[in-house]
Amino acid sequence: MSHLELKNVSKSFGPVEVLHQVDIEVKDKEFVVFVGPSGCGKSTLLRIIAGLEKATSGEVMLDGEVVNHLAAADRGLAMVFQSYALYPHMSVRQNLSFGLENTKTPKDKIEERVAEIARMLRIEELLARKPRQLSGGQRQRVAIGRAMVRRPGVFLLDEPLSNLDAELRVTMRAELAALHKRLDATMIYVTHDQTEAMTLADRIVVLRDGRVEQIGTPLELYNRPANRFVAGFIGAPH
Ligand code: ADP
Ligand code: MG
Repeated sequence: MSHLELKNVSKSFGPVEVLHQVDIEVKDKEFVVFVGPSGCGKSTLLRIIAGLEKATSGEVMLDGEVVNHLAAADRGLAMVFQSYALYPHMSVRQNLSFGLENTKTPKDKIEERVAEIARMLRIEELLARKPRQLSGGQRQRVAIGRAMVRRPGVFLLDEPLSNLDAELRVTMRAELAALHKRLDATMIYVTHDQTEAMTLADRIVVLRDGRVEQIGTPLELYNRPANRFVAGFIGAPH
């Protein structure tokens, strides 16, 4: 089970409040996309869920338990960043296995898991390479693979495709959708790209200036946008 609830979450940096009483519920195995213009608070919200940033007020709940006090490593989540954040001096294989090395997982099990992930993401041929020897798309596959290693119940993805060219973005989008089905995990995906949101999401959360404007399926947002901002952003007639 991996069910997430944000209750009345606000966040200030100094005197500036950048998230205002955000309420969102993400069901187990749902693919939810947070969408909104640059600077509206998407990354901050994701970082609060991940435990990389503390909410100023409000609650983050995982499977019915408040987790505000839990460190990132203890939340059972995995985050994929736009910048990949791979270890440059390590091979792809080491980048993938690193997350299991400080656990009690036996060596042969780690190898098995790395092989399985490499197969799933079609990066088997790249295991001996260093990140600098990879293309952008390959790096992003490794970053996703690294997040998969501990079999997290929830994946947090912050604009994972935005550094890729348009063609590769379309390919990777389809792969992510397929991966979601296979992984049996909850996905929370941040983007400023409406097309990505509309094609990937079970439900979309539209954010503007740190507030939730509307939550709904792509079809609901398109057919019944709550206001002009949502309509404009989603590309619906208004
Ligand atoms: P998005 O990911 O939607 O582009 P962010 O969550 O990165 O937006 O930022 C939301 C707002 O919070 C922006 O105005 C940004 O400048 C501000 N902000 C983000 N992180 C910090 C920080 N560490 N200190 C001060 N302000 C920040
Ligand atoms: Mg961001």
